[in-house]
Amino acid sequence: MPAAVYLGGGDMAVRELPVPEVAPDQVLIEVSHCGICGTDLHLVLEGYARPGSVLGHEWAGEVVAVGEAVTGWEIGARVVQEPQPGCGACRACRAGRPAVCLAKDPVDHLEFHGAFCRYVTADARRLLRVPEGLSTRAAALTEPTAIAIHTVNLTDVAPGDRVLVTGAGPVGLLTIAVLRSRGIHDITVSEPAAGRRARALAVAAAHAISPDELGRAPMGRPVEAPYSVAFECSGHARAAEAALDQLDYAGTLVFVGTGREQPSINHNRMIVLELTAIGAYNYDSDGFVAALALLASGALPLDLLIEPDDVLLDGVLGAMHRLAEGTPPGKVMVRPEVPR
Ligand SMILES: [Zn+2]
Ligand SMILES: [Zn+2]
Repeated sequence: MPAAVYLGGGDMAVRELPVPEVAPDQVLIEVSHCGICGTDLHLVLEGYARPGSVLGHEWAGEVVAVGEAVTGWEIGARVVQEPQPGCGACRACRAGRPAVCLAKDPVDHLEFHGAFCRYVTADARRLLRVPEGLSTRAAALTEPTAIAIHTVNLTDVAPGDRVLVTGAGPVGLLTIAVLRSRGIHDITVSEPAAGRRARALAVAAAHAISPDELGRAPMGRPVEAPYSVAFECSGHARAAEAALDQLDYAGTLVFVGTGREQPSINHNRMIVLELTAIGAYNYDSDGFVAALALLASGALPLDLLIEPDDVLLDGVLGAMHRLAEGTPPGKVMVRPEVPR
């Protein structure tokens, strides 16, 4: 099968790989689409990935073979795979945060077998059916949608709050869309790229500004028009610092975007304004079920959240560079084919 393989040194190429063996409790999936994630960008463009590996975890596809011990799944079923569940009993799971289950092995991003290729295997017990009326392509947005839902659920954001989103790439846009689906309207996005600002407005942001338009924070007091919650989706240190400065008393900053540079945290400001900062990693328990339901509900502007032009396997690296430069605002989907 064809696959987009990481070669090392920030380079990728299309290679032929064997179709994976299907264990008795697994199914074989023909990948319909796999979204390019910020994590993939970091792993490839910053060279963390293991040479020879295949990335891509935001996939949806169709069952094409079923292991002998599998019941309840048939060839042709359209599916996504839920994440590994938490133990359900530890401190993190009890708090509804199975992503950081204390009993779970840490995720090994370097040993990951991804879906920038034609076929993947999946644990049949973790499959979820794509609802009727939702395309398999759009279902590939399940994982990032589950992240956006979890991100919003980690806060007590409510209609009437003034919300700031820094960064209007795929993660920021999905966060805006999920906020809007919860009845939150007063959303400002801060984003340097004009194309991404325009897309954020089309998705649901009420205001889109360039980062240099954010007001300077007076010492020990909120800015003139502060925000109760800020979602830092860009991964840029300066955006995180600015987002913290824009918060009102008792405001919350959520770190969603990862990045190489570390922000410097103004602890004095956090003390005087009693701010909270929290990281959002992965999903609620049943987060994929909620994401599929939200995607199928029609409440999200899918055509604005997903870029219209899919890339093929030979286009993955180029799309990663364009995403890192800030050009496409929405999610870029990879169709695991090679150009003829
Ligand atoms: Zn992802
Ligand atoms: Zn647990």
